[in-house]
Amino acid sequence: MENPAPSPLEIYKVLPQTNCGKCILPSCLAFAAAVAAGNRKLTECPDLAPEIASGFAARHGEPEGGRDRNLVQAEFVDRLQRKMTAVDFERIAPVIGARLDSGHLVINSLGKDFRVDRQGNLVSECHIIPWVQIPLLSYITNPTHAEISGRWISFRELKGGIDWQGLFTSRCEQPLRKLADGNPDLLQDIIDLFMGRSIEWYEADIALVLHPLPKIPILICYQAPDDDLDSALTIFFDKCCGMNLHIKAIFTLCSGLVQMFAKVADHHR
Ligand code: SF4
Repeated sequence: MENPAPSPLEIYKVLPQTNCGKCILPSCLAFAAAVAAGNRKLTECPDLAPEIASGFAARHGEPEGGRDRNLVQAEFVDRLQRKMTAVDFERIAPVIGARLDSGHLVINSLGKDFRVDRQGNLVSECHIIPWVQIPLLSYITNPTHAEISGRWISFRELKGGIDWQGLFTSRCEQPLRKLADGNPDLLQDIIDLFMGRSIEWYEADIALVLHPLPKIPILICYQAPDDDLDSALTIFFDKCCGMNLHIKAIFTLCSGLVQMFAKVADHHR
């Protein structure tokens, strides 16, 4: 018989219990809770010996984070599509910055229109990929909605952001910074290709605003390397983002964006 999924306490017991913070979480217990929820993997604790992590996984099986990614995504899309059948398109369209056309919701993402039917199926002029589909359906079905505030906050200030900060830094901000370091024109190209706009932002060499979804504005600030100083890149969010999209969906959206920007950079080489 399959072992039940491990509890946070069971996971905590195998951790070093030093609360060193290298996993970018405030404590080993917080890390254990994130592993149990499938948001982190045991192997992301740098101080845990690999043989302990693999022994634990062999005994208990991995929580959701270790399951086949495609299967997890398919199940998630299925849940979102079931929620979509209860959405009142006429009411929600103006709230989320969409419009109605022939019974479809039409939502703009980075200058491209996506059409969504009442079963949550997507049609667009570009290829449908899970990183677009999941955040887009999550955005429509999110229980709360807020207007754009004009106030920029960091990822960790978003609700639930602290738990995801480590992954966000390693999968979104750091790779995008390296891409920008190696491709000085990339951020300007992103503005041109994805209907962005540049703004003045403190010491940033370039700061650009994008709308991956109508009421999810993000601000990418980049400082190029200078003499002995490394480059720096931070992604900020309008305060409304935390009300308009779950933190997991925000992370999925941003990591998908960075993968797409990497393809743009490849294309330019
Ligand atoms: S890196 Fe490992 S030891 Fe350090 S706080 Fe996180 S879980 Fe605990």
